[in-house]
Amino acid sequence: MAKPVLIDSHSHIYYEDYSEEFEDMLARAAEAGVKAMLVVGTDIESSRRSVELADKYPQLYAAVGIHPHDADGVTENDFMAVKELALSSPKVVAIGEIGLDFYRDRSPRSEQVRVFRSFLRIASELDLPVVIHDRDAHDEIIECLVQDGAGRGVLHCFSGDAEMAERAVSMGYYISVSGTVTYPSNGALREVVRSTGTDRLLVETDCPYLSPEPFRGRRNEPARALLVAARIAEIKGLDLDDVCRITTKNCHDLFGINVWDNSAKIAYRIRRSIYLNITNRCSNRCVFCAKFDDFTVKGHNLLLDQEPSFEEIMSVVANLEEDIDEFVFCGYGEPLVRLDIVKRVAAELKRRGFRVRINTDGQANLVHGRNVLPELEGLVDSVSVSLNAPDAESYLALSNTPFGAEGYVAVTRFISEAKLYIPSVVATAVTLPGVDIEGCRRVAEALGAEFRVRKYAEVG
Ligand code: SF4
Repeated sequence: MAKPVLIDSHSHIYYEDYSEEFEDMLARAAEAGVKAMLVVGTDIESSRRSVELADKYPQLYAAVGIHPHDADGVTENDFMAVKELALSSPKVVAIGEIGLDFYRDRSPRSEQVRVFRSFLRIASELDLPVVIHDRDAHDEIIECLVQDGAGRGVLHCFSGDAEMAERAVSMGYYISVSGTVTYPSNGALREVVRSTGTDRLLVETDCPYLSPEPFRGRRNEPARALLVAARIAEIKGLDLDDVCRITTKNCHDLFGINVWDNSAKIAYRIRRSIYLNITNRCSNRCVFCAKFDDFTVKGHNLLLDQEPSFEEIMSVVANLEEDIDEFVFCGYGEPLVRLDIVKRVAAELKRRGFRVRINTDGQANLVHGRNVLPELEGLVDSVSVSLNAPDAESYLALSNTPFGAEGYVAVTRFISEAKLYIPSVVATAVTLPGVDIEGCRRVAEALGAEFRVRKYAEVG
């Protein structure tokens, strides 16, 4: 498997700490897979230095701003200087480090708020995201973001609780996790990581500060972003590779830093499963489907240029067979619209000894005008069918099935009859607001299927 690629979304590598071995430090980062770093200024001088470094090294990007510690006495000239720096290079991708620090209170709070809000407005004017420092000023940060924020940015080295993270995410912001997530006493941050979607997390070192365990107390550096990602992976029950890919994509979306592999994936790995993305066609148009906003799952781009042939699928699969529990026909499309390909690929995978699962909307019998379930016997070990509603009316409203009321009847029949041909049959419902989960559970049980709840907005 290729080495994970990662971005350190917050570093201060312009400090003297690195001057003697700057190139070695960058080489260690590259060796660890840290392919890009955001160098964040905290005053005019360090912002200037960040831009110089970003202009010199292709893997470095810059953020420019003034830290809340230095807010006292910031003048219009200072704002102009930051603006000029922001416009001086295409490698400047954010305004920061800005924010509030009511823990150390090195500048009067009213001054911190004045400067922070001014920078939020400057970022909006320049159409740049913001990198926010927050220490013991959670409510005030949110209040400023409500007043002047444009919903693009990151709360770096997050120190709030899960509720604050949820508020910030609902306003469009990302949560950045530093090495403190590895500290034994920091259960609160691990809870934030647990409850926040991976698609809203970034990884940072904040170096030279906050070295993760087992280097706590020593000078930090970008290569150690990998230790932060590894701890996030552990908390989320994902592979390190997944966290690296997803957070790299998040940096791409937020800062435009482009080291994310966005090639269309026919097959992609999450944990120990390989998902097969063989079509983007669907028999439904579900109101909750994430693909209408973003055609990615866990950092994998699933927007196909064209539907892959049997040979193309098998040649991709051949490189991915190592250390795998199962293959899943899934993706952002309904796999059973390509029934013949599913049967051929599944037969080959079974011949090679793998488990095979299909995630489906359960309308294949209507699509093909016949009962296709007997054709899947012996080829498929498990089928997961999206039920999502306890009755035909709610199903139609949610799925926009082109088959009208018949659609729901077909899904329930599919679930019921699948047991005759497929060993494991699971009906699922997504926790979309308004979905009657308990009603779905009753229907699934009456049909003799297992029932599983899928978290809304968490795909893959
Ligand atoms: S069937 Fe699946 S992929 Fe298709 S629209 Fe519905 S949720 Fe999206």
